[in-house]
Amino acid sequence: MEVQCPVCSAKFTVPETISVATCPYCGTTFELESQKKVGEHFFFPPIGKDPAGLLLKFISREYGAPADIVQAKIKEKVLHYVPVYFFYLHGKLRGSTAEEVMLTGIPAVGKFRELLRDYPFPVRGKRFFDESMVKKGKYYEPEISREDAEKEAVAKIMSAIRAEARDSGDSFTEGALDLDVHYQGLVHYPIWEVCYEYGGEDFYGFIDGADGRIIEARYPMTGEARKKAGVLGAGILAAGVISGIVFASMGGAWGFLGGFIPGLAGAAPILFKSAHRVQTTGQIRRVYEHIHFKP
Ligand SMILES: [Zn+2]
Repeated sequence: MEVQCPVCSAKFTVPETISVATCPYCGTTFELESQKKVGEHFFFPPIGKDPAGLLLKFISREYGAPADIVQAKIKEKVLHYVPVYFFYLHGKLRGSTAEEVMLTGIPAVGKFRELLRDYPFPVRGKRFFDESMVKKGKYYEPEISREDAEKEAVAKIMSAIRAEARDSGDSFTEGALDLDVHYQGLVHYPIWEVCYEYGGEDFYGFIDGADGRIIEARYPMTGEARKKAGVLGAGILAAGVISGIVFASMGGAWGFLGGFIPGLAGAAPILFKSAHRVQTTGQIRRVYEHIHFKP
């Protein structure tokens, strides 16, 4: 049957047999009959896959990873249950077309604040919190209050609307902002931390326990791969210098920069890679998550 979300008004289909649904767009969990929001504390169940296997397989496909990295020794695997406050926000600037809708998670434990900043958490799949899961991992109480988390979420949407207003040449004042904030609950989110040993050294990786994505991983780059990257980077840089000289002959000093700067921009990430033996990688596109409002 088709149901409508009481918070964001989205329509979606659910099986006839259920009485409680979670909106796939804004994360609200509500009772179908009364349309009332239910639950303030949730968790995501971890997937059954081995996080160490996922991590090493991912690293083995990265540039310059040692061929035998999949055989690295796993030293430790810890499942962290990280508290995250979720908010659904809708903001509109009066007298402007600037309007934003945002579903955001604010991590509430210091150790994970940086790792999970602007993290694209899934909307589907959460469950009502159940005491028995506390024993299955390392459980944390929130270190920041819901009020402080809400302030952060509001600051995020305000900066998005401010940017949008600027883009369309409108002026931004807080007084002209209509803001709707819905607290969607505290979610304990599973994050695996894996430590492995390679060549007598320890390396770490963080894996999303709910869907298996590699959030952040470190690995040693082989000497051969570093040398190749160095040669390639130097080549691109040299090409930049040459095109700079060619441009300079046509347009003077600015012409030189016009040729050289793109070369430098192309070479820098490759040279940076070649200069670091330990690489940091991951599968998460850490974009600032916001959706421009489409009426
Ligand atoms: Zn909704």
